[in-house]
Amino acid sequence: MNYIAPDSRLFDEAGKLYVPEDVQEAVRKIIRWAGDNPEREGLQDTPARFARAWREYCEGYEDDPGVHLSRTFEEVGGYDDIVVLKDIPFRSHCEHHMAPIIGKASVAYLPKDRVVGISKLARVVQGYASRLQVQERMTAEVADCIWTHLKPRGVAVVIEATHGCMTGRGVKTPDVAMVTRRFLGVFEDDRASRKDVLELMGR
Ligand SMILES: [Zn+2]
Repeated sequence: MNYIAPDSRLFDEAGKLYVPEDVQEAVRKIIRWAGDNPEREGLQDTPARFARAWREYCEGYEDDPGVHLSRTFEEVGGYDDIVVLKDIPFRSHCEHHMAPIIGKASVAYLPKDRVVGISKLARVVQGYASRLQVQERMTAEVADCIWTHLKPRGVAVVIEATHGCMTGRGVKTPDVAMVTRRFLGVFEDDRASRKDVLELMGR
């Protein structure tokens, strides 16, 4: 996928991220379009705040998640079983409505010779979450990234999330969660291993 790399960051005198006038004007237009007056007091600083918040929500574009997996450890004392990181909380935004996606990801791999620091798996999740996403693609990206960089025997990723575009608009169905999964290697090929990993994830 081709992402546009953001410009280098500029900061104003107060040390806040500089937001170009045309970006602020675009937000004012949306506020007007939604039916409010962007010039009223409470909304005056909103365009700049909104823009800064969006750079933060999308900071994954400045991150190559695979880099977090480049440092591995081979001294594992003969450990050769599944490593699971359960229920990693994340926040993302759907690319169709730019509405929040709030969920948890469980990530597992079956190491071959080397392991990675566990916080790194969470960083991979955050890196892909901090972009405009669809849950299906995010699930695949997290799994593929671990598969490519760690070259393990197997990878399993299960993501459960609620979508603001469903809970807050449209059909307005709160508490409906979507579950997506991706299995690679032994978890794809072997039913018993898959059952095992799902059990460890509490599923
Ligand atoms: Zn959506």
